[in-house]
Amino acid sequence: MKICIWLIIFLQSGYKEILLPITTTDRKAIHTVEITQIGKFGIVRKARTNIPQHLHTGIDIKRPNENYINEYIYPITSGVVISKRTDGPYAQLIIEHNKEGELFWTVYEHIAGIEVELYQPVKPNLPIARFFNHKELNTHGWQFDHFHFEVLKKRPISIRSTQSNPERLFTSYTLSCFTENQLQQHFYDPLVFLDEQM
Ligand SMILES: [Zn+2]
Repeated sequence: MKICIWLIIFLQSGYKEILLPITTTDRKAIHTVEITQIGKFGIVRKARTNIPQHLHTGIDIKRPNENYINEYIYPITSGVVISKRTDGPYAQLIIEHNKEGELFWTVYEHIAGIEVELYQPVKPNLPIARFFNHKELNTHGWQFDHFHFEVLKKRPISIRSTQSNPERLFTSYTLSCFTENQLQQHFYDPLVFLDEQM
């Protein structure tokens, strides 16, 4: 009985496993993650229409398996969904995590088939979304055959939601990091973070 109580306290007391957000042979092995050619953290992203040149604030994770139907995406650890954007290629989830009183946030972007609600608690063993399927890639473009993953040191920016995106309550600093200093202030390098925490 006593052991049981301790186990419950242990499970509730911030013990949080960190796992890779994708299905690989070992979700605790960083070498099983593949990044796209221009998907590294901190790489310079050239200016495009309406987007100034900026540093890449996350990593672009390649589809780990040849699954173009339901290649799942998972939260890296338990947390709560604080923002949900469901529109097309920029669909996004932001999750808040509390690690022994210290907050950090993860962002999952270019995703589809979102399976979670706003404010829902999540765990790393249950999918929150999936990579685009074949049809969605044909619609949005095959440059989205990856998902963009960020780990934030700072709370995302609170925004006013709109009628078309009522549950999009926060936005990241994705397009506003122009210097190495700004990047380091706001973001962890996801690969380093995962490697250290897993
Ligand atoms: Zn990216």
